[in-house]
Amino acid sequence: MSICYFNGKFRPTSETALPVTDLIIARGIGVFDSLRSYEHKPFALREHLDRLRTSAEGINIRLGGIMEEIKGAIIAGLRRDDCPVAECVIKPFITGGDVNDFGTFPNPRFFVIFEEGIPVSDAEYKNGVTLSPSNEHRPFPMVKSVNYLVGIMQSAEQSDVLECLYCPDGEITETLRASFFMCKDGKIITAPVGRVLNGITRKIILEIARENGFKIEERAPKLSELADADETFITSTWKEVMPVTRVGDIKIGSGKQGPVAAHLLKLFRENKHRWLRQE
Ligand SMILES: *Cc1c(COP(=O)(O)O)cnc(C)c1O
Repeated sequence: MSICYFNGKFRPTSETALPVTDLIIARGIGVFDSLRSYEHKPFALREHLDRLRTSAEGINIRLGGIMEEIKGAIIAGLRRDDCPVAECVIKPFITGGDVNDFGTFPNPRFFVIFEEGIPVSDAEYKNGVTLSPSNEHRPFPMVKSVNYLVGIMQSAEQSDVLECLYCPDGEITETLRASFFMCKDGKIITAPVGRVLNGITRKIILEIARENGFKIEERAPKLSELADADETFITSTWKEVMPVTRVGDIKIGSGKQGPVAAHLLKLFRENKHRWLRQE
């Protein structure tokens, strides 16, 4: 069962209701974050809370003391007996509230959902996923917004596609919900933060990769480089390091999980305890 913290209480998520006057509904004004636990402990909690704050401030939501309350709710939720599973997905949301004061939002609401994640199969890691390239871009790159309309429409009705790959002007930035990496000429290439969301898995993977002698280049890879890339992969909290074996009509590398993605996934799992803390 999924539980939700809202207005000072934990309840089943299915019984939690938000007033219909909240601007998250009529205007899509809202931000969120998505983190996970391993063995009942939050992973990279501080990094995710910092990003949630950046997201909210990026669209002029006035936070007051909300961030402390959210942190308390996450820690309390993970300790509850009705917390869904040892490895759950935790989604704190901050909404625009009912008042739009000339593009600032002085009375936000917040809630935190705790739910069971859908396990990623070994077959998915071995075979990789397909992305659909799009000329669109994500507005406010540093903001993890609840508004996914543009991105979702880019791969609508394509059942073999995981999600879209944003490539404005032929430069690859990120996917609908993940950070993107290309391996070529012995380097790992990924777009810089600011152009893209500050992906927490991205940051951790880059740190671990540098420690292990990988060469990193922070620039947006070009769509035209994909055809002779050695491999590509995406990173995100739930998928960790997922190979991308096709982009539109272009098959990447061997068409299977490549050695860099496999190595980084292994290193990530061996090192993840370094980010399992409550502060
Ligand atoms: C959530 C998200 C990510 C992944 O971030 P993690 O912190 O690694 O889970 C990357 N890009 C976008 C656009 C996202 O929305």
